Amino acid sequence: MQIINPATGNLIKEIDNASATNVRAAYEKLRAGQRKWAQVPIKERIACIAKFVQLLEQNTERIAEQLTQEMGKPLAEARGEVGGAVFRTGYFIRECEQVLSSQKVADAGGTIEYLNYRPLGVVGNISAWNYPLLIGVNVHIPALIAGNSVLYKPSEFTTLTGLLLTELYHQAGIPEDVFICTTGERETGQAVLDCPLNGFFFTGSYRTGKFIAEQVASKLVPVGLELGGKDPLYVTDDIKSVDTAAAIACEGSFYNNGQSCCAVERVYVHEKVYDDFVASFQKNVEKLVVGDPTNEQTTNGPLARAAQVEFLQKQLDQAIAQGAEVLATAGRVSTQSGYFNPVALINVNHDMDVMKEESFGPILGIQKVSGDEQALQLMNDTRYGLTAGVVCEDEKRATEILSQLEVGNGYVNCCDRVSPYLPWAGQRDSGLGATLGHAGILAFVRPQGIHVRKL
Ligand code: NAD
Repeated sequence: MQIINPATGNLIKEIDNASATNVRAAYEKLRAGQRKWAQVPIKERIACIAKFVQLLEQNTERIAEQLTQEMGKPLAEARGEVGGAVFRTGYFIRECEQVLSSQKVADAGGTIEYLNYRPLGVVGNISAWNYPLLIGVNVHIPALIAGNSVLYKPSEFTTLTGLLLTELYHQAGIPEDVFICTTGERETGQAVLDCPLNGFFFTGSYRTGKFIAEQVASKLVPVGLELGGKDPLYVTDDIKSVDTAAAIACEGSFYNNGQSCCAVERVYVHEKVYDDFVASFQKNVEKLVVGDPTNEQTTNGPLARAAQVEFLQKQLDQAIAQGAEVLATAGRVSTQSGYFNPVALINVNHDMDVMKEESFGPILGIQKVSGDEQALQLMNDTRYGLTAGVVCEDEKRATEILSQLEVGNGYVNCCDRVSPYLPWAGQRDSGLGATLGHAGILAFVRPQGIHVRKL
């Protein structure tokens, strides 16, 4: 497998893909390793994770540079991702012991009833490339603290970051037969699916997620799927500052070059504030600087996958052919291959793919609406259900709108935000199960009831 720097097209490294035999051998090691790991007291397992956090912090620059080189994220955003991984891991360190502790739940006529949690066993994690550290720790940390071992297949587009993460886990004291990284593409993923794992946790596209769920259904083990989105933001007529609303929308659309599962991909704006909003949004887009992601001024680097440029261009061309108009592009654009310049469209509608299909890149449609009813109808007109946001002065009105949407996370006056305190759980075609929050800890255990009666 060739690891290519998307900013330059240059080869970084060649790596052998793990064969099906390698993957199976890794599984056997993890099977044995898990039995020992589950016997290690939870406080000691957590101590290893605390050491891992220190290593993340100490290696921030090295990890950020690796991530930028491999997937094209600007350095500042890559550093931010390391910080985010530290923050999330801290949450698990504080919460897991209490959430997973054995509880006495009832004394039923002399029979004491306890609830215990047992690790699943060996769990598989097939992952995406857009936030490899964040979506990695979402699964790895609670799985490891709960006493599971992990077979990890990072995305082929962030292989080196996956290997670096693995190096830090091992340096922190996680045994080498408890966390194993198998590198490769789809075939390596298939080999992971073929192992008799005790749980499968996937982050990636709807298409692959559905395929994985079907493949492993007969194994009767937990499956977690974190899939795509087509997330909307609605700007109501009561806002006092269109500039604030436009800044929120622009950041939500173009951060990480729009390559976020919860990026804002469509904005609906009340007709009373539409013209002012659009004028302000244009100014925001024009501040974006496309270019070399190692340059500190750059806000948007190349796309992580060269093939995505053609996909986005097709969405853009189709929308324009159907009547959309370009409102704005970045202030400084790039003509280099591998880059797609951020673009905002107006005069869009739901006959256009750009308003219906996940773009996963820096393209956005802004549509005028007559009021809450039309906004709701359009926001819900999607097969996805990851997040939705409302920019509104009236919190009650905003939460009422959000309550009518089938989404895992709703935002009032913010967007593109993930908190470890809350479950991350896509609805509809955006996923199954949850990571983060207490639900995302309990995803890696099975409950067991114990009934104790005195003789
Ligand atoms: P992808 O589905 O192409 O690939 C994801 C992983 O699956 C990769 O590791 C890939 O090698 C592996 N894979 C592909 N085909 C496989 C197969 N047949 N069998 C086994 N493994 C296989 O997705 P991607 O391009 O890496 O990620 C982008 C997608 O991920 C977007 O849709 C985005 O919205 C979604 N995503 C969702 C979340 C979330 O939290 N909901 C977070 C990040 C990304």
